[in-house]
Amino acid sequence: MDNTLLVEGRECGKCEACCVELTIQDPELLKLPGVKCQHLSKKHGCTVYENRPKTCRDYYCMWRFMPNLDENWRPDLKGIMIRRAYNGIPKGYEGKIALNFEVIGKKSVIHDMDFIEVLGGFIVNGFPCFLSIGKPRRQTSLVFLNNKILHLIQNRNLDGLKATLTDALKHSAKNVGKKMYIEDGEII
Ligand code: SF4
Ligand code: SF4
Repeated sequence: MDNTLLVEGRECGKCEACCVELTIQDPELLKLPGVKCQHLSKKHGCTVYENRPKTCRDYYCMWRFMPNLDENWRPDLKGIMIRRAYNGIPKGYEGKIALNFEVIGKKSVIHDMDFIEVLGGFIVNGFPCFLSIGKPRRQTSLVFLNNKILHLIQNRNLDGLKATLTDALKHSAKNVGKKMYIEDGEII
């Protein structure tokens, strides 16, 4: 993303979700997904903040770019981290930013009306959207949602929508990748 588009005045505050959730492959830092960064201190946050790797300096989750989402959508508060998705985007969505709603807190968040309304808004407007849940040290599996839930949104079928989101989350949890390791300076 273009960091000049960050929401003005918005800060990460006490959120440290990306220091846990992201896979980082930087010349200065290797970090596995879902594993707390070695430089993250419970009391002091990032202990190398002034000299943090370029990947960390450049990265912002999508909440930092979305003025329509309020402070409750900060990932550590909401339990959802919105990340850009780059792979597995079906044809017909060219030119639209793809979004992955990654559950990082309570699974029940996917049934909150606030979540459903925001997700539904993106889907109705043609943004390709995915749902995923992470497991430590494993590549997340993203489940494409648009084709599964657009008609349920249009028909205002809330029960069907919730059931489909539950199935999508279970599917993501079942299909995480193999366990990852750091070996000889590489993530494998
Ligand atoms: S180096 Fe600092 S900013 Fe980067 S992941 Fe680790 S704790 Fe977070
Ligand atoms: S997940 Fe988003 S809000 Fe949280 S620390 Fe990272 S960039 Fe900031």
